[in-house]
Amino acid sequence: MMAVPKRKTSKARRDKRRAHWKLAVPGMVKCPKCSEYKLAHRVCKACGYYKDKEVVQA
Ligand SMILES: [Zn+2]
Repeated sequence: MMAVPKRKTSKARRDKRRAHWKLAVPGMVKCPKCSEYKLAHRVCKACGYYKDKEVVQA
């Protein structure tokens, strides 16, 4: 015997659940150097700094 859902999820309920899906891009942090938003664990593309060192020439 398989478990069968008693009630089908309505379109409104299903779409409401998906409305919150990735509203904000995950892994965004503020750069400590220029306070620009950058991807976490990546070199800041605004100033080229990562971990207090200039890695990429701006
Ligand atoms: Zn920066």
